[in-house]
Amino acid sequence: MLRECDLNEISDGKKYSLNDMAKVGCDDCKGCSACCKGMGSSIVLDPLDAMRIGEALDLSFEELLVNHLELNVVDGIILPNLKMSGQDEACVFLNEEGRCSIHPARPSICRIFPLGRIYEDGAFSYFLQVNECKKANRTKCKVSKWIDTPNLRENQKYVAEWHFFLKEYQDRIRAGASQEYAKQISMMILNAFFLTPFTEPSDFYEECKKRMELMRAEIK
Ligand code: SF4
Ligand code: SF4
Repeated sequence: MLRECDLNEISDGKKYSLNDMAKVGCDDCKGCSACCKGMGSSIVLDPLDAMRIGEALDLSFEELLVNHLELNVVDGIILPNLKMSGQDEACVFLNEEGRCSIHPARPSICRIFPLGRIYEDGAFSYFLQVNECKKANRTKCKVSKWIDTPNLRENQKYVAEWHFFLKEYQDRIRAGASQEYAKQISMMILNAFFLTPFTEPSDFYEECKKRMELMRAEIK
């Protein structure tokens, strides 16, 4: 989700890269599940997130939409997000012990929390959201370790590419493109990146890049 805000108000003012140490360690979240509740529609998924969750639960994207995910408009484009439910508006993947039931397949927003991403000039860095994690006395951890993601370099490239791919279309919609155009973009993105399965997960990054290029060639 694109947000324009003063970094100094929500962070310690620093930008972090993979090799930096950041105060993110929360003692394995013992006794706390605060950031898995009341998040509204803010945990937006990218195609890799959706593929991983589908694989973990052996469910198609359509099947995930029945109980686990929902669709909402994000800066003009329809994208999936984690569903919150019940009285305490908890993530549907939070189990009775207050733990994440899909921890190895949790989406990237959950993986990096309480870090956020700041995108600039075709790349991104991380920032520490100082008001979000409820645990006091967090310990320092290397950012690359905290993110706990295989093929990290390739993954980081993909994260930036996906962000700027969406932004191209979001900027056009923001600049006054027709409703028809916005609807067409949403349908194409849902079809190409979420409803059409990535059959070889090991080729995900390459295949996703091809699909982005194809869509760029098809619709400006
Ligand atoms: S997917 Fe897991 S870590 Fe993310 S909000 Fe849900 S329960 Fe929490
Ligand atoms: S708020 Fe912090 S300690 Fe609590 S569940 Fe989230 S990351 Fe863990």
